[in-house]
Amino acid sequence: MQSFYTIIKALLDMVFPVYCISCGSSGLDLCLICLSESPPVERESAKWIFPLYDYRHPPIKKALWLFKYKGRKRLVGIFAETLHGRILEELSDLSVMQNFNDALLIPIPLSKKRYKERGYNQAELLCKELVELDKGKNFKLEKSILIKPKETEHQAYIRDRRDRLKNLSGSFFVKNSILIKNRNIILIDDITTTGATLAEAKKTLKQSGARKIIAFTVAH
Ligand SMILES: [Zn+2]
Repeated sequence: MQSFYTIIKALLDMVFPVYCISCGSSGLDLCLICLSESPPVERESAKWIFPLYDYRHPPIKKALWLFKYKGRKRLVGIFAETLHGRILEELSDLSVMQNFNDALLIPIPLSKKRYKERGYNQAELLCKELVELDKGKNFKLEKSILIKPKETEHQAYIRDRRDRLKNLSGSFFVKNSILIKNRNIILIDDITTTGATLAEAKKTLKQSGARKIIAFTVAH
């Protein structure tokens, strides 16, 4: 017998059908076939940063744009599952080789102003979903430790690399540093471009006593 939930879901699907943003098939915002055909990142990033997909691939670019700016939050489930698999893969090595255990999962924060405008932080949504998937086995969420007190100019608008770093310098702040003392940290963001934002977050966390820091993003 169909459960109540299945019937409700079927009804909702009829009234508000969901289509793949890339191939148009019904069911998911980005179907598993289109996702599995998305190329992994080939461009190099820092050794401690692990991005999943190539941002230049149109379905990934579109999906992340919808997720970040258009409130298409259902995409979080699709990306979080792939991210979780990737995190476990890395952790299986790191836990043995570098004693990277009991990690704290920290989203790259938005400033208060940006958060108000958007209504949500896409990195935080990814973290929440990751914690659900992980069921407390490998990491726990700390979403209020790393703060972004002021709005910085959008990195993409600043051409010069040195100016970009200067723009970010001091843009993060650690609240309650006792909670991260000697802790391993997994940073999460949706996209990394130059890696400068992640590097600045890492620097701030390190200065507050964190042990080892790695980062995962959906795309590069
Ligand atoms: Zn598709």
